[in-house]
Amino acid sequence: MKYISTRGGVAPIPFSQAVTMGLATDGGLLLPETIPLISRATLEHWSGLSFVALAQAVIGQFVAGDDIPREDLNLLISNAFSRFSHPEVTPVVPVGDHYVLELFHGPTLAFKDVALQLLGNLFEYLLKRDGGRLNILGATSGDTGSAAIHGVRGKKGMEIFILHPHERVSPIQERQMTTVLDANVHNIAIQGTFDDGQSIVKKLFNDLDFKKNYHLGAVNSINWARIVAQIVYYFYAWGRLSGGNCERKVDFSVPTGNFGDVFAGYVAKRMGLPMGRLLLATNRNDILTRFFSTGGYYLGRVHPTMSPSMDIQVSSNFERYLFYLLHEDPRAVREKMAELESGNGFAVSEEVMRRTGDFRAVAVGEVETLETIRKVYQAHGYLLDPHTAVGFAAALETPGVVCLATAHPAKFGDAVKQAIGREPDRPKSLAGLEQLPRRVEVLPADVNVVRNFIMSRLG
Ligand SMILES: *Cc1c(COP(=O)(O)O)cnc(C)c1O
Repeated sequence: MKYISTRGGVAPIPFSQAVTMGLATDGGLLLPETIPLISRATLEHWSGLSFVALAQAVIGQFVAGDDIPREDLNLLISNAFSRFSHPEVTPVVPVGDHYVLELFHGPTLAFKDVALQLLGNLFEYLLKRDGGRLNILGATSGDTGSAAIHGVRGKKGMEIFILHPHERVSPIQERQMTTVLDANVHNIAIQGTFDDGQSIVKKLFNDLDFKKNYHLGAVNSINWARIVAQIVYYFYAWGRLSGGNCERKVDFSVPTGNFGDVFAGYVAKRMGLPMGRLLLATNRNDILTRFFSTGGYYLGRVHPTMSPSMDIQVSSNFERYLFYLLHEDPRAVREKMAELESGNGFAVSEEVMRRTGDFRAVAVGEVETLETIRKVYQAHGYLLDPHTAVGFAAALETPGVVCLATAHPAKFGDAVKQAIGREPDRPKSLAGLEQLPRRVEVLPADVNVVRNFIMSRLG
């Protein structure tokens, strides 16, 4: 299995190199040369596997045995999911006429753990095998930063620097990051906004000498390893509901921001998973919903909502889907992306739009999100976090849909309290978080100060 770029400028590379490359060197995104097709007999067999065994089977489809030996890969995978608190890793729970696929049993209670626990293990393994060091740098508004920190804490050959806006992330998110005291974890609280942090990170990545000399890398959602880990739970949910009966199609609803999670569902469908529709649910930041209804992909302003992990302007993984929509033609992708970079968007033809039927996109407003949390709680005693509620709201009229639960409600206690009048109960992993010692460096929003801090830590 080899990987190519959506923009055509990368000679086919093995999985391990795709993982360390992250963003393709030609500015595009990496994809497998072909998507493996899974037979009905294999699907039937997979439906009876445990989550870890299934993950080994699914991810194994995307990694050549002479790239990473099968036993090594299997061990990296089983270790990645050993820190999940639920024996099923991602259980499927019936809620009224719907199902909830709970993806929040990892160390930071958000679905990003599924991918980042594996990515941390892969990085450590590849650095040890191939030599070299990696210094991860990123800015976060909350979820990604804490999941990344928990994915690489204590790992050899790696340091991680995460910038968050000082006193502007939720107290739980702040503590999930700053109470990690491993020597390779460096939390920086920027005296500014999330955008200030992100702009500092961009400047440092654009400082090519600094980037090269200090081995900077990213863990953002464009890394193919993150997608591959997320494909697994679509197969898992189908197996639980179908019992291996390939006549049984399952619909999914996915709260979407950067299009990573829902794209994993699309790949699962192309692999032959019996799937009906993929409901793509956005909040008020609805660039994707507008695309699916008009064929135009035009930037808007970012509106802050109660589902902040979906407050995006551009969906960084969308280029992967565009590649398939445009008949896998890298030149056509380059043209569209050039239009996006030089202006504020692009449109695709009606012929292209006729092939978008795998998705149904729905935008859900703030009032509806709160209403959904309240209604589902009152009717079924089940608490949704605001991200999950966006997906649930999109599926409300369609019974049987599997709604992906991307965060534990306790992570977003304020929104839940607005909906039902009280804070959700805290799971065990959050108990006592306020009392734990913290380590964080508060710095001004100044790229030079941050650069000096990183240099001083790396010696
Ligand atoms: C990141 C995130 C999302 C959006 O996922 P994408 O892969 O970016 O579409 C949804 N919900 C939560 C809680 C998240 O952290």
